[in-house]
Amino acid sequence: MKGLRPKTQLKLAVPEQETPVSNFLTASGTFRDGDLLLNQRGLTLITDESVDPRSNSDLVKQEDCNEPEVQFSPEDLETVKVIGKGSSGVVQLVRHKWTKVFFALKGIQMNIQETVRQQIVQELKINQTAQCPHIVVCYHSYYNNGVISLVLEYMDRGSLADVLKQAQTILEPYLAVLCKQVLSGLVYLHRERHVIHRDIKPSNLLVNHKGEVKITDFGVSAALANSMAQRDTFVGTCYYMSPERITSKSYDYKSDIWSLGLVILECAIGRFPYIPSEKDEGWHNFYELLETIVEQPPPSAPTDQFSPEFCSFISSCLKKDPQDRMSSTELLNHPFIRKFEGQDIDLGILLDALDPPVNSPS
Ligand code: ATP
Ligand code: MG
Repeated sequence: MKGLRPKTQLKLAVPEQETPVSNFLTASGTFRDGDLLLNQRGLTLITDESVDPRSNSDLVKQEDCNEPEVQFSPEDLETVKVIGKGSSGVVQLVRHKWTKVFFALKGIQMNIQETVRQQIVQELKINQTAQCPHIVVCYHSYYNNGVISLVLEYMDRGSLADVLKQAQTILEPYLAVLCKQVLSGLVYLHRERHVIHRDIKPSNLLVNHKGEVKITDFGVSAALANSMAQRDTFVGTCYYMSPERITSKSYDYKSDIWSLGLVILECAIGRFPYIPSEKDEGWHNFYELLETIVEQPPPSAPTDQFSPEFCSFISSCLKKDPQDRMSSTELLNHPFIRKFEGQDIDLGILLDALDPPVNSPS
């Protein structure tokens, strides 16, 4: 069968953290080290009296802190190196000078009006309250010198796009484990936050050495799209866009499910599922791709290469009519996701087998 098998003998170059985040970082994205409390609202100096004795020692509610906040200011972050480039700007690996903890600093550079920028920052601040282990934590956002900056949880194995570049394909058991985590993140966004991500794609699914998979850029594309709506400007890529979204029909959470189906199928077969008519030419003509997505039957997993459960999962995601598409909650209970539960499949081992990503600190 096609796919990558972990070569466990390879040594993983895990970035050395002088202060391991996991020692004091909670799933909610709050960490405490001595008198320092860092969460989505910024960095705070706390005293014993400011800590609610009922709360866990490592998880302190911000409302319980009476001390003035010390802002998570750009001066507290030292740049290590650039780790990625997107259409809106660069992502840098940075280290907090006091705590020595690594973060990813994403800069969004846009030539837009000051008021619109402020609107975006405001929306991002609201989104920073996300509390789900499968959503990349955004600790802080600020606007400075024409750049919107986001201080993000650093994911040391990069994106699924980076993984695919090396691994080419991912075997079904690992895909099930990966997909379950993404679906948990989507259930949180759809059911609890009532938001559509709008930009599910391999580069927005990040992984770390613990085998955790997290969705990033939550809120970013929504904020940009909202702000851009009046300007009639297209934001993002349409490769993973659902047929209803491409045709400017009303769309909902199911739009993210279409994107997920394409991403998972791509991971399984090792290429973007739609094939351009001119072989090896790629999708240079966007309109041709759009037409194909809208006009042609949806892509499917080859039944002779993949399990019936996997084929059914992909087809449940890639229904052209969103009404026929399964929801994130339904998919979490799909036989494909259930199939490998209890088998102790460690995605971290698969990631260990790959070369360290370009974005590791060393
Ligand atoms: P686009 O801008 O077209 O949406 P993109 O998603 O690749 O593309 P960015 O979101 O700017 O663009 O991210 C660029 C790259 O930076 C990602 O592909 C990923 O490799 C890396 N990256 C982004 N966020 C993090 C993070 N929190 N931790 C580690 N690496 C990250
Ligand atoms: Mg991104």
